Amino acid sequence: MDKTKYIFVTGGVTSSLGKGIIAASLGKLLQARGFRVTNQKLDPYININPGTLNPYEHGECFVTVDGHEADLDLGHYERFLGVETRKSNNVTTGRIYQNVINKERRGDYLGKTVQVIPHITDEIKRNIKSLGSKGEFDFVITEIGGTVGDIESLPYIESVRQLRWELGKNCIIIHLTYVPYLSAAKELKTKPTQHSVKTLQEQGVQPDVLVLRTEHNINQEIRNKVALFCNVEPYAVMQSIDVPSIYRVPLNMQQEKLDEVVLTKMGYDISQIAPVKMEKWIEFVEKLETAKEEVRIALIGKYIQLPDAYKSIMESLIQAATYNNRKLKLEMILSDKLNDENVEKKLAKMDGILVAPGFGVRGVEGKFTAVKYAREHNIPCLGIGLGMQIMSIEFARNVLDMREANTTELEVNTPYNIIDIMDEQKSVLDIKGGMRLGSYECSISKDSLAYIIYGQELISERHRHRYEFNNKYKESFENAGMICSGINEESNLVEIIELKSHKWYLGVQFHPEYRSTVVNPHPIFINFIRAAIN
Ligand code: GLN
Repeated sequence: MDKTKYIFVTGGVTSSLGKGIIAASLGKLLQARGFRVTNQKLDPYININPGTLNPYEHGECFVTVDGHEADLDLGHYERFLGVETRKSNNVTTGRIYQNVINKERRGDYLGKTVQVIPHITDEIKRNIKSLGSKGEFDFVITEIGGTVGDIESLPYIESVRQLRWELGKNCIIIHLTYVPYLSAAKELKTKPTQHSVKTLQEQGVQPDVLVLRTEHNINQEIRNKVALFCNVEPYAVMQSIDVPSIYRVPLNMQQEKLDEVVLTKMGYDISQIAPVKMEKWIEFVEKLETAKEEVRIALIGKYIQLPDAYKSIMESLIQAATYNNRKLKLEMILSDKLNDENVEKKLAKMDGILVAPGFGVRGVEGKFTAVKYAREHNIPCLGIGLGMQIMSIEFARNVLDMREANTTELEVNTPYNIIDIMDEQKSVLDIKGGMRLGSYECSISKDSLAYIIYGQELISERHRHRYEFNNKYKESFENAGMICSGINEESNLVEIIELKSHKWYLGVQFHPEYRSTVVNPHPIFINFIRAAIN
């Protein structure tokens, strides 16, 4: 039993059923039995990666250590498993086609007609198997984005069919569907599930396990019926019921025996396998569910209508609040609507203010208003990415009296009349797609809030931005009390700024939210919430 095993998670009936959470939960359960697991996401869209997608379309763009702009499901995988993902953990149709076309141009196909089958499907299979080929993992869990029956998903489902055939017991397929409850009839309906499985079967794929998403308990009778209609054993039909927090899902799926069924189907003798060990996780979930006292945090951003746009930040805040024995009360504030007239009303009662990352000019005025208010009223304030840049510019304008302070990004039409607090990315850096992306080191000065937070002098955090603090102004900032406590020494770039005289005022150019997990919450968020409480 030393070969890597492949598990596929497909979805039917509707999107947004939480395939990513089910895939991550299974990964967690297998990991908690001592297996080495990685999760992968295949996205059926044509974009090369989600870097160019508007957050309204697809939620947040997650960034891996190796600087890949990835689907937000990779964030779930990392938060659940605590294992770093990489570029190979997220593949899109665009990348598959790009690879195939590059090979065609190089002449790799030796004059053959290049086709969806076998060339595209071979490339898909190669990308799936590449994760297992180095022997690093016992299980590769691959989530197929989209819904079965979509035109876009066809080559992926076909690849899964072929792999199931090639790998036999070393491959299984989990299909996630939805069982709606009709309140007028007071009945749970399985017909959509039957149809969805039929669609898979028409494409030559027989699921081994069915997970039924539901808002009401599904009794054994209904499970038996689904089993009978779908050619799946009754013990392999299970439910995933709505829960108040996604962190409950692995525990519920353990109750449903998802891990046991998967292992049994792959030929393991379950009595010989270590039991699930996840005390820390359970402790976290219990804390999360019992915390009563609230901590009120305002999140100032321009995409707040779609909370998924700030997924990792929100989860980091939830984790940090939980570890501080508090219930997170998050106020999402649309930065476009925040101004001098309403700022008092909106922010005075907040324990802490977080200014979100972002791109472009829309909504920045409200962010200036928020950081100024936090600075002047001694409210703990964390600025991330653009948030840190706004903190710098606001300080220059209102404390250093540099009225023209700005950044070229926000002054698109008049780049030369401003005092450019943020410098455009220096070309000496390893620039991926015009941005500084992925993990970079940062040295922390000892006498600083940052050092209290991290407790170490050298850290590494993930980046995704184009502009950098302009070193020309460093001295005047520091003389006025805004110190640059974190520096990337390799390229002499400011990574962290903090206001000495303030209770807790910290701006970070990087994204700590990508590194916060359930078992290892990020110290910046932990410390921010602690300051907000006191
Ligand atoms: N738009 C800014 C830049 O490119 C900030 C990006 C971010 O928030 N990470 O520098």
